[in-house]
This record gives sequence, C-alpha cells and structure tokens, in this order.
Amino acid sequence: MAHFRLQNVEDFYEIGEVLGSGHFGQVRELTEQSSGTLWAGKFLKLQRSASSRLGVERRSVEREVEILQALPHAHIMALHDVFDSRAEIVLVVELISGGELFDFIAEKENLMENEAIGFLKQILSGVAFMHSKQIAHFDLKPENIMLSDKSAELPEIKIIDFGLAQRFTPGEEYRSLCGTPQYIAPEVVNYEPLTVASDMWSMGVITYILLSGMSPFQGDSDEETLRNIVDMKYEFEDQYFSATSDMAKDFIQKLLIKDQSERMTAEECLMHPWIKPLTHRQAASRSRSSINMKNFKKFNARRKWRMSYNMVWVCNRLCRLQLLCKQAQEDEELRSCESDQEDIAIKPASLIRRRLSSNS
Ligand code: ATP
Repeated sequence: MAHFRLQNVEDFYEIGEVLGSGHFGQVRELTEQSSGTLWAGKFLKLQRSASSRLGVERRSVEREVEILQALPHAHIMALHDVFDSRAEIVLVVELISGGELFDFIAEKENLMENEAIGFLKQILSGVAFMHSKQIAHFDLKPENIMLSDKSAELPEIKIIDFGLAQRFTPGEEYRSLCGTPQYIAPEVVNYEPLTVASDMWSMGVITYILLSGMSPFQGDSDEETLRNIVDMKYEFEDQYFSATSDMAKDFIQKLLIKDQSERMTAEECLMHPWIKPLTHRQAASRSRSSINMKNFKKFNARRKWRMSYNMVWVCNRLCRLQLLCKQAQEDEELRSCESDQEDIAIKPASLIRRRLSSNS
C-alpha cells in the first residue's frame, strides 16, 4: 500500500490553475517547492460517512492509488505522491500537458490510417501492460486518453483516470454496472462477470470512432444505446467507411465480439496485420487509407459540447439539491459542482452509472 502522507499538500507544493474536473473534485497544476518541478494534483473529496451521498469512499481512492502504483509504464499516468487529510486525498501525478488525443487529431487537416495506428499502438501497449498485471481499466474512452506533449513529432499517449479500475483476484468474480454507455461491453450491460476483455471492447469502439467519426452503438437515448450493444447492432456504413481499409474493419470486428473469450487480447491486437503488417501490401494499404476527418471533427465537436452541457446540467441539479436539502454542513461540498454525480446522473431507465464526461 502506498504511503499516504498525513501532511498538507500546500506545505510542499504550490497549487496552480485548474486543469480539469471529474466526479469527485478537481485536477490542478502543482509546483513542487523544493525543485520547481510541475505535477498535476487530483483532489478527491472523501465521503464524510458511509451514508453520505457526497464524495468518494476512502477505499476506492486506496484502490486507485494501489493500481497506479502497480502500473509503471510509459503510456500510463505515473503516480508521484499521495497526501491525506481527513476530508480530502490528493494524488500527485505526472503532469500531462498535451490535452486529449481526440482534440489533437481533430485539429489536423487529414490523417492516414498508419498515423492513427501510431497512437493506437501506444494505447494498446499500455493496456497490454495493465492486463498483464490482471488489472482492467473499465473506463477506456477518448476523455481518458491524453498526450504528454503535443509538439513532439509523435506525441506520447498517456492513459488516465483509474477511478473504476480493478485488479482481478483469482477465484473471485467481479461485476459492475459502471461506465460510459457508448463504450461499455455487453457483459457490463448484462451485469455478468467481467474480465480484462471488457477493455478490449472499448478499444474496438474507440477505433471505430477514430476511423469514421461515428459511434457504433449510439442510439437516441442511453437506453437505445445499451440495447444496441446487447443486440450487437452495428455496421460499417459505406458513407462513413469508404476510405477505410479492410484490415482496419477486420481489427474492429475481432474486438466487437460478444463472447469475451473470443475477443482479441491487447497482445493479439499488437500482432494483428493492421497494427503490425507482415507484407508490403498490408503496409501500403494502411498508408493509402485515411480516417474520415470531416466526420471525425463533427463527432469531436459534439462530444465537447456534450461534455460542457453535462457539466452545466450537473451544476444545476446540485444547486437544486442544495436548495432542497438545506444541509448547512454539506453546502460547501455541494457548491463544488463536480462531486457526487453518480446519484443524480442515473436516469430512470438506465442502471448504468454514467461518468461525468459521458458523451452519449
Ligand atoms: P471522471 O469523473 O471523468 O471519472 P475523475 O474524477 O476520475 O473523472 P480524471 O478523469 O482523472 O478525474 O481527471 C479529470 C480531468 O482532469 C481529465 O479529464 C483531464 O482533463 C484532467 N487531468 C487528469 N489527470 C491529468 C494530468 N495528470 N495532467 C493534466 N490533466 C489531467
């Protein structure tokens, strides 16, 4: 177990601008006073009591810390330090300053498949590493795939947000209804025992979107999306996939498989001819095929708009709750907007715990 320092983070780091926010708090830039090194601080508000609807359980933060510690890898956000006060835990992590991969790609005029593969390979190597440690991320989606420095020739991928991650213990089953509707696997929707293969389904969805700008199972509502996932209702519409290679489609088809044991593993993905071509012909096909940039830009713009819409929606709901509850003690936490999204975000017909940055 990581050493949780019972000190104030402010005594060692200067707290700077807000870099992002999530379910249970903010992520802010930190400057280490002793060295001037820049880090990111994930400030997680803790639940005051087991029955409190605000904040995160201490056990979940401990699990996130333990998992991050077990995953030293170039493409996984590194953990540097942990501070523990009664009300809040601060994870001091590697600063990732290049923004989200999808935003970086959306700024480009065009992108060939082989360039997109350069990024996918890095994501897959991070995922293969975590799976080799029997750890599943369970929330792989564009918002959690960032770049360390976008000015580099081939920017480096960093996978973030291990808040839903789990380490599998032999002989123990794990089920969960958490995740973001568009990206979750059928076994999550059906509340069946999960394996690391659920991440591979999400990789299939991410690749599908990256190539076409379309989300394979997206319905008009979360309920419809979940139904489409369980019914395996997706296709490669010519309209969106006209410039896509057959190898790319084969790659996706081998991930979007209902039976978890039949899905490609991350290691197998890295050996698939689309990722690692065996012949000149295969290599040439990747550099001739392009991603559907026009549609991808549209997808990304919609995604960003929905992320900010969700944020405003959560704030409004919290303000209303605040008026209803009138619990003076918890007022301060309610004002911070991002906490406790889980209870209020559950829509009547959906049991899936939506994540704040859901864009379905
Ligand atoms: P969610 O509610 O989506 O699960 P969370 O509370 O688990 O979020 P993160 O997803 O880890 O929090 O972080 C929230 C946001 O903060 C990210 O979307 C990203 O924009 C930013 N962020 C997270 N980690 C870093 C980092 N190491 N460097 C820079 N920005 C970061």
